[in-house]
Amino acid sequence: MAMRMSSLFLRTLREDPADAEVPSHRLLVRAGYVRRVSPGIYTWLPLGLKVLRKVETVVREEMDAIGAQELLFPALLPREPYEASGRWSEYGPNVFRLKDRKDGDYLLGPTHEEMFTLAVKDMYSSYKDLPLALYQIQTKYRDEARPRAGVLRGREFVMKDSYSFDLDEAGLDKSYQLHRDAYVRIFDRLGFHYVIVEAMAGAMGGSKSEEFLATAENGEDTYVRCGNCGYAANVEAVRVPAAEAVDASGVPAAHVEDTPDTPTIDTLVAHLEAAFPRTDGRSWSAADTLKNVIVMLVHPDGTREPLAIGLPGDREVDEKRLGAQVEPAVVEPFAEADFAARPTLAKGYIGPGVLGTDRPSGIRYLLDPRVGEGTAWVTGADETGRHVLDLVAGRDFTADGTIEAAEVRDGDACPSCGHGLESARGIEMGHVFQLGTKYAEALDLKVLDENGKLRTVVMGSYGVGVSRAVGCIAEGNHDELGLVWPRALAPADVHLVATGKSDEVFTYAEELTRSLEAHGVEVLFDDRRQASPGVKFKDAELVGVPTIVVVGRGLADGTVELKDRRSGERRDVPVADAVAEILAEIGR
Ligand code: ATP
Ligand code: MG
Repeated sequence: MAMRMSSLFLRTLREDPADAEVPSHRLLVRAGYVRRVSPGIYTWLPLGLKVLRKVETVVREEMDAIGAQELLFPALLPREPYEASGRWSEYGPNVFRLKDRKDGDYLLGPTHEEMFTLAVKDMYSSYKDLPLALYQIQTKYRDEARPRAGVLRGREFVMKDSYSFDLDEAGLDKSYQLHRDAYVRIFDRLGFHYVIVEAMAGAMGGSKSEEFLATAENGEDTYVRCGNCGYAANVEAVRVPAAEAVDASGVPAAHVEDTPDTPTIDTLVAHLEAAFPRTDGRSWSAADTLKNVIVMLVHPDGTREPLAIGLPGDREVDEKRLGAQVEPAVVEPFAEADFAARPTLAKGYIGPGVLGTDRPSGIRYLLDPRVGEGTAWVTGADETGRHVLDLVAGRDFTADGTIEAAEVRDGDACPSCGHGLESARGIEMGHVFQLGTKYAEALDLKVLDENGKLRTVVMGSYGVGVSRAVGCIAEGNHDELGLVWPRALAPADVHLVATGKSDEVFTYAEELTRSLEAHGVEVLFDDRRQASPGVKFKDAELVGVPTIVVVGRGLADGTVELKDRRSGERRDVPVADAVAEILAEIGR
């Protein structure tokens, strides 16, 4: 049935909503697709629901095509399975937790690895039942720290999550590839510009992992790409090759020097330049200094652990990279009170002399991989106003290990071929990963193999952000007038606008609507008698159906107007050919 603007549950807005920072959010609210209930919680209005359902259909068709079977788990889940996997605590404040009347603990599912694992354990026991792939399209809950951009990062959102079950790693590789190929088809059909990048496995555990990022300037994810070899990775997942050991035999013994008032890298470099000019003619740079940054890790059980990171002074610690490395712990700043509680730390002059679990501070100390054996540094001497020069890694100090927490910069060497990397931003639309046996082990999912031996099942987990996709497509498809949907996802095939006062126009527009419907065309029919043509055209542009048909003044001359929303091109077609022309226009 055609949607009629005279009765459609829709109010378009001329003003941008006050809380909207990105175009997709502004336009989805203004064009009447979604409406905010609370931060990160949205109602899908009729037009929005149409688009959401179309995304679901594409995802469902491609999941079915690889033989995955759809089921539906509840969102309200008991604590026990999540306790068994460790995620009840690991998920921390991101999980919505609640109690029932008997004081039992429940949660609103943020993702469902545990439930799928248990379902298979409940019903299957033999290798003959594998491989198996199951999926659902379901509402998830995460109490995101920063819900933002409307449906792009919600606290309630729709996800397609699927899981594969195999007897061994080779089986998992196949299942993973099937899903990856299905994702390529899904995102092609949805009309995304996207890249597939290496990703961190994160809180899920497991090994191989890739993300599908829709390219978007205001995306929250940063990825890097190598123009030479095609390497692409989320910055979180970039591995800096460990520096090769260099010969330090020519470096003099380390010496402590007075460097008054040099608590920052800039002040230190300026002082070095003035007081200790280098003998090799080079000038000092931030990259010659070893900066030691201290943060506070808060573990899921609430314990607080300081962590020191040593990195070249010309690089900052990247919050996201660090966060990904220390998950499930979260990173908090190291506060004044934390310094005060640790008198071994001379703020602004902290060095490897006190850092390390076996050193006076007892603080775990991890180095950037660039700080290789034999490299010489200027760094804090652990006394206010003093630094140590010619301090050689391996010779004069060691650490507890390395960490990938330094920012990745444009031009940094590609880990795969050495060429310069370029960075760009994107929105994570999908994620495929090989979980391995993490959940099967935690929840004891085993099957008998052909020799009657019990084997732990090997799993994969695969997500698509279904509701996020709607926001993301809007983000990539709009102009200054409003939304411009790709055909496959538009809430209707045709937006038919009847203008003017004459009954003939409205009678003919009704007929045309019915003829189109008889051909299976979805019509959004602006049959309002009171609204002016200007209002109707503005609404049509805002709503963004790709083909707009105008029945109005031209009808007297026997024509209707076809307008392409994207290009703005318009042409008159004879009434007699209208249906055929519209069908051709929309590709039927
Ligand atoms: P992000 O890094 O964006 O927080 P994630 O890595 O935590 O996402 P996954 O657990 O991999 O997300 O979930 C699978 C998919 O679900 C993601 O690829 C994304 O498209 C979608 N998704 C995740 N969180 C949200 C959210 N808060 N709102 C909407 N969609 C989301
Ligand atoms: Mg992810």
